[in-house]
Amino acid sequence: MDLKKLLTPFTAWGNVTKDPVTIKDPLNERPGADRYRGFHRNDVEACVGCGSCEDICENEAIDLVPAKDTKDGDSGLRPMIDYGRCCWCALCVDVCTTNSLTLSNEYKWISTDPEDFRFIPGIDKKDWDDNNDKGWKKPEPNYEFYPLDRVHMDELSPEERGDSFIEMMKGYSKEQAQQEADRCVECGICTATCPAHMGIPEYIKAIRNDDLEEGLRILYDTNPLPEICGRICTHKCETVCTLGHKGDPLSIRWLKRYIADQNPSEKYKEILEAENLQPKGKKVAIIGSGPSGLSAAHYLALMGYEVKIFEKLEAAGGMMRYGIPEYRLPYDQIDKDINYILSLGVEIQYNVNIGTDITLEQLGKDYDAVFSGTGLHLGRSTGIPGSDNEHVYASPDLLRWVVEGKEFEVPESVVVIGGGNVAMDITRTMARLQKAKYGKVQVIATALEKEENLPADLEEVVEAREEGCDVNAGWAPQSIEIKDGVPTGLHVVKCNSLFDGEGRFNPQCDMDAKEFWPGTMIIESIGQGMDLSYITEEMKEKLEFGPRGRVQTDEYFQTGIDWLFMGGDIIEGPDVIHGIANGHKAAVGIDMMLNPEN
Ligand SMILES: Cc1cc2nc3c(=O)[nH]c(=O)nc-3n(C[C@H](O)[C@H](O)[C@H](O)COP(=O)(O)OP(=O)(O)OC[C@H]3O[C@@H](n4cnc5c(N)ncnc54)[C@H](O)[C@@H]3O)c2cc1C
Ligand code: SF4
Ligand code: SF4
Repeated sequence: MDLKKLLTPFTAWGNVTKDPVTIKDPLNERPGADRYRGFHRNDVEACVGCGSCEDICENEAIDLVPAKDTKDGDSGLRPMIDYGRCCWCALCVDVCTTNSLTLSNEYKWISTDPEDFRFIPGIDKKDWDDNNDKGWKKPEPNYEFYPLDRVHMDELSPEERGDSFIEMMKGYSKEQAQQEADRCVECGICTATCPAHMGIPEYIKAIRNDDLEEGLRILYDTNPLPEICGRICTHKCETVCTLGHKGDPLSIRWLKRYIADQNPSEKYKEILEAENLQPKGKKVAIIGSGPSGLSAAHYLALMGYEVKIFEKLEAAGGMMRYGIPEYRLPYDQIDKDINYILSLGVEIQYNVNIGTDITLEQLGKDYDAVFSGTGLHLGRSTGIPGSDNEHVYASPDLLRWVVEGKEFEVPESVVVIGGGNVAMDITRTMARLQKAKYGKVQVIATALEKEENLPADLEEVVEAREEGCDVNAGWAPQSIEIKDGVPTGLHVVKCNSLFDGEGRFNPQCDMDAKEFWPGTMIIESIGQGMDLSYITEEMKEKLEFGPRGRVQTDEYFQTGIDWLFMGGDIIEGPDVIHGIANGHKAAVGIDMMLNPEN
């Protein structure tokens, strides 16, 4: 036997002088190790109630329950934990989409009431809430349960797109769509935020299951313009997507487009089971073929009403066709959605201006109900000196002329007043026309707002700049210089702030910081107004108007005149999906009025 083995038993004597480890008061003196997994904590402000913790818990120890005072863009629910079931595996912490859920290192607690062991961390206050240092948190950086980056969609390069109106975004392949759909945690917070309350988790699941016919059925439950919305929807849903708390929000808009793109229009009727509609024997007139009018028409036709749309212009689609440029929304995709609605028996009479060609009163007499969605088509002017010159244009007019193919002189230098999305659309449209004609771009867009507050979407500003446009933030237009009856440019001064202490619009400018933006065409793009001249004074007396000159309606968009419903931008804009949601609800309201027994 070697010496070491012989002496080892005696080393135990070394412990004789150490303090005993026996715990005298085991109920109070048994601290967990620093990373011990004890009772839950939840930062309820950061938690969005996505339910991922509930879904992953193998022991069904978590229930999402309603909580008071939650914020917009969350489900209003918070996890309640049942410690009769919890095994402290911490999977819920690891999966938490906001990193709000953690485990303390507290594990002992006595109560005679078993109900105490079911509580809502963060809301039912506990002693361990404030000790945030100890316990189990998801280590950072760490593996993630969901990829943080969205699947990229291919697009045309600035060089490829600069002088054409070809669609920029190329769409997802099946692999890309399924990979992106895989990131969805199915929390449904997006559904609550979408104005049309689309079944988003459900149609994304259909992509995962490669059941695109089911996906289409889910889209059409609430939205009869999926090709359109799949391209240009303002995607409010993505702003609240749970995944956006740590990474990129899910690409919900592009996934919708994927479903619509994959389903051939010839099969729509069969897939959507819209082949034998039962007529109700009543008819509804619709004024305007924008998204609100088309949506109302679609759902009314499905309910069996005879529907006729009266449209002032030569083609259907409203601002979707005459405002949104083709590089973002190609006409054949608009037609795909609209042709399906027409195939349900909806009729459109073009080039009919209600108010002049047919009066509104007459429509009221000839039809059982009327829905009006006439939109905002009048340009607004700054009213600055020179703005009444004939070479100063309103963006809605110019955008419409481009679509109509109307001849107008494309100048070598253009100034656009405005920094919103519509201003970016006309800026980029003019840039394309200039590039095609002169091989170069000279468009200056100028906005009151500072760079970080530009009202346009960031991607629009970035893409405009990529295409050679000059977007200048923080300048207030002062006057348009006119020489020999033609503009030569726009005088601007530095705008330091837009609102006063009480939040009122009251721009403050440095009159000494001046610039002159040269341009022989000036385009004002500072918002649009409505034209309600088709409503006679006599009728207006029967309607109620809100502070912004908008007709007051009830929740089904019914006005003070029983047979007249109004929706879309004239009532509640500012985008296509609001128009769709309004049209759908108005269709339900019209049905309730005409068939109260239902
Ligand atoms: C340049 C531009 C870009 C935009 N980009 C986007 C975008 O990317 N995403 C998005 O979601 N939204 C966008 N919008 C907003 C969107 O287009 C509107 O919110 C939406 O079209 C409003 O729908 P609506 O049904 O109320 O009316 P509109 O689409 O405006 O349609 C109204 C229809 O009524 C017709 N009409 C009007 N008066 C009469 C009358 N007296 N008789 C008969 N017909 C009449 C018009 O000709 C028109 O066809 C954009 C708007 C513009 C101007
Ligand atoms: S996973 Fe996180 S964010 Fe989602 S409900 Fe649970 S605690 Fe809240
Ligand atoms: S720690 Fe594990 S068992 Fe306990 S609630 Fe979380 S997921 Fe369920």
